[in-house]
Amino acid sequence: MTLRIGCTADDFTGGTDVAAAFRRAGLRTALVFGVPDGATALPADCDAAVVALKSRSTPADEAVADSLAAQRWLWSQGAAQVYFKYCSTFDSTAQGNIGPVADALMDAAGAAVTLHCPASPPNGRTVYQGHLFVHDQLLSDSPLRHHPLNPMTDSSLPRLLSAQTRHRVAVIDRPTVRRGADAVRKALLAHEQAEVRHVIADALTDEDLAVLGAATLELPVVAGAAGLAEGIGHACPTAGPVTAEPRPSEGRAAVLAGSCSARTLEQTAQFHAAGLPSLHLDVLAAAAGRDVTGEALAWYEAQDPALPVLIHASAAPEELAAVQAQLGVTEAAAQVEELLGTLASQLVGRGVRRLLVAGGETSGAVITALGVRAVLVGEEADPGVPWTYAATEHGDLALMLKSGNFGAPDLFTRALRTTAEEPK
Ligand code: ADP
Repeated sequence: MTLRIGCTADDFTGGTDVAAAFRRAGLRTALVFGVPDGATALPADCDAAVVALKSRSTPADEAVADSLAAQRWLWSQGAAQVYFKYCSTFDSTAQGNIGPVADALMDAAGAAVTLHCPASPPNGRTVYQGHLFVHDQLLSDSPLRHHPLNPMTDSSLPRLLSAQTRHRVAVIDRPTVRRGADAVRKALLAHEQAEVRHVIADALTDEDLAVLGAATLELPVVAGAAGLAEGIGHACPTAGPVTAEPRPSEGRAAVLAGSCSARTLEQTAQFHAAGLPSLHLDVLAAAAGRDVTGEALAWYEAQDPALPVLIHASAAPEELAAVQAQLGVTEAAAQVEELLGTLASQLVGRGVRRLLVAGGETSGAVITALGVRAVLVGEEADPGVPWTYAATEHGDLALMLKSGNFGAPDLFTRALRTTAEEPK
C-alpha cells in the first residue's frame, strides 16, 4: 500500500469535498472517518486517503493531537505529503485551529515552509493580495461575518494566520502565480531563506490552483481548501481516469434525512412530488417512548421494493422550533440522530444497498451506527456529493453522505434511479 497523497480534513463534510476533488483529478481515493487506528483498513490500491476529523471548532490542543495521529497513520500508509484541508472561508479564531495544526504538522514533518491557499473558484472563493473574497465581497463583508461559531470579520489571510502562529507569514502574489510553477517554487525558496514559514498564495482560477499544485508537489505539508487539493492531484504523475469502481445496483434504495436545511427540504418535497414513498418521523412521540423505529420498519416492509423510500426527521423552521422548545436543542438532536442511526443499520440489515444520508451531523451518526470506518470514493452525483462504497457485515453498500445544503433539488430521485430507468 503506497499512497501518493494523504490528507487530514477538519470536518466530515469537508472530508467528502476534498476526497471528491482528489478523485476528480484521477486519483483512486479513500475517505476515513475519525482518527484511524491499527484496525483501520483502506480499500486496495488507493492513490489518496483523506482522514476526516472533527477538529475545526474543538480546543486547539485536541485538534493538534488528532491531526498528528492522522498524519502518522497516513505516513504509515506510504503518503509522502500530507495536505491539511480547512474551510474555503478560513473558518478559525485567533486561538486556531489552522495555525496550531499547520505548525504541528510541519514540526512533525521537519518542514521549513508551507503554502496555503483556501481559494475555491467554482464556489466564488478567491484570494487576491492575500485577501479572501466570497464572490464579489471581501470575506469580512460577506454573510460569514455572522457565522455562529467562527465569525469572520477580517479578510486579510496574513493577519488572520499571524494571530494563530508565532512564525512569519508572507504572500505570493498573482503575477508570480501567473508566471508558472517554477516562479512559485523560486518565490517559496526565497521566503524559506528569509525564515518565512507560512506562505499564502493568491489564486483566482482553477488554472492558478493547477500551477500551485505543480509547485508544491514536493512539500511535506500543504494547506488549503478542496481547490488546491485538486491542483495537486492533477500534478501527480499517476493521475489518470479512475476505472473499475464498484457500482451496486442490486438491493433496495433509501434516503435518511436529518438535515433541516432549505435545500434538503426542497429535495424531500421533490421526492414526494415524484410519487415516491416517504415517511416523516415523529420526534416528540419517540421522545415520549413510542416505538417510532419499529413503526418505520413496518412501513418500510410494506413498500414496493423496486422503489426508493425516504424516511426523514427534517422539519420546517416552525416545527423544528416547536420540537426544540419542548425537548431542548441538544436532546432533540440526540433523539433524531439515535432514530436515524438505528434505522440505518436496520435498513441495511433488511437489504438496503444504496443509502443516501442528508445532513452533516446526521451522516456522522449513521456512519457510527453502521460501524463504517473507511469508504472508497466514487462518482459525484452533484459537485461535492460523491457516491462512496463501504464494506459492511451485510455486504457492499453504496453510501452518499451530503451536507444539508448540497446537491440540486432533484438529487434524491436522480441519484437513486434504478439501473433500468437510467437514460441510455
Ligand atoms: P445540516 O448538514 O443541514 O446542518 P445536520 O444533520 O448537520 O444537517 O444537522 C441537522 C440537525 O437537526 C441534526 O442535529 C438533527 O438531529 C436535528 N434535527 C433534525 N430534524 C429535527 C427535528 N424534527 N427536531 C429537532 N431536531 C431535528
